[in-house]
Amino acid sequence: MAEILGINIDNLNRAEALQRIGNFLADGRQHWIATINPEIAVKAYKDKKYCDILNKADLRVADGVGIIWISRFLGGGLKERIAGVDLIYDIFGDLKKNAGFKAMIIGAEKDSREKAKENLKKLFSHIEFGISLLNIKFSRGNNGEIEKNNKENEEMLAGLNGEIRKFAPDILFVAFGAPRQEQWICDNLPLLPSVKLAIGVGGAIDMISGKTPRASKIIRGIGTEWLWRFFLEPRRLGRILNAVVVFPYLAIRYGLKK
Ligand code: UDP
Repeated sequence: MAEILGINIDNLNRAEALQRIGNFLADGRQHWIATINPEIAVKAYKDKKYCDILNKADLRVADGVGIIWISRFLGGGLKERIAGVDLIYDIFGDLKKNAGFKAMIIGAEKDSREKAKENLKKLFSHIEFGISLLNIKFSRGNNGEIEKNNKENEEMLAGLNGEIRKFAPDILFVAFGAPRQEQWICDNLPLLPSVKLAIGVGGAIDMISGKTPRASKIIRGIGTEWLWRFFLEPRRLGRILNAVVVFPYLAIRYGLKK
């Protein structure tokens, strides 16, 4: 475990994470996974409630090279970056072919959900894939969270849970962006008994659908995916600066004070 800005991140490589997930799926209980990137860590630093939610996950993986670098700088040495999108492919690749697993995608835009489902079906024909038909755009509170006591949000949430109960997936991919996806999982997982594993996947569905092109292995390997994202979407500059400037500054200051 390494603590980064108050979040306890599990120190596992990809194979170890996969083994842990295999155990989750075998024990019959409900589990959920948070994929922690620098942007999420900064949000959690500013919002204690969100930080507490993240620390309730059964597994927190380091989804960002910045998290790995800072953990090494602070002497905590996380082993490997585990990108949410890689984790999705790994999980399906690892699932037993005869077990009849069902997986469902909720969140993201409709075209992205549909395309991601199509692409996953081609690769993993042993899994039954479903998507929610509802498009979910939450009214948000001050920290970007799903606003409570909001009638439209409550109606959307009830409709969505109805769809999930009907399809009854074992695995649920939740792409509402942070902090909504983790908040949603915490509040709703106990209400959805078929779901044995839920994962907050942020923009990973948009990557699987091809809506957001992924950086090449070389660019990812040298830790410059953020620069690639900037060239693709310059409007994300604020978010990118948050990840590459604000995050290291806050995380090092926090780590050195401890
Ligand atoms: N998203 C969603 N519902 C929302 C907000 C976001 O389904 O109320 C989806 C969005 O379409 C995208 C994913 O969440 O596929 C991640 O969104 P992003 O990282 O852009 O988060 P945001 O900037 O909206 O906070």
